Amino acid sequence: MSAQERIDEFRKAFRELAEAEAQIIEAMKPFNAALSAIHTAVETLREEAELTGHLGSCLECNDPLLPGDPGHVCRDGEWLCEQCAFTYAELKGQAETMLADKDSSDEDREHAGAMMARVERHLADGGKLEDRAVGTL
Ligand SMILES: [Zn+2]
Repeated sequence: MSAQERIDEFRKAFRELAEAEAQIIEAMKPFNAALSAIHTAVETLREEAELTGHLGSCLECNDPLLPGDPGHVCRDGEWLCEQCAFTYAELKGQAETMLADKDSSDEDREHAGAMMARVERHLADGGKLEDRAVGTL
């Protein structure tokens, strides 16, 4: 195949892929419009309720989370609602796994230690392992 033939083949394949992409973008327009309408409706609801402090939504179930709600703040800053929050038993298990993993970083070990301390404080305060590990958002 000559250099010119390779270029011609590339142009033909590129045009076909660009056409396929354009068709997909066109097909997505109604969905993008619907998503935009939903986002506008959420914003309107937030304004009508004067919820200037709306934090976001639960990572698992998408429930809205407001300041003062019970919830769990994950290490990466994501939130979980009370129903989706980890139990203290799950926190303990995660911490034990991190501590047992020889590849855990110092940061992981420090985090695991803080998790274990949190579990121990909860139990010392009369809490149970099956309680949800939530605080006030
Ligand atoms: Zn949830």
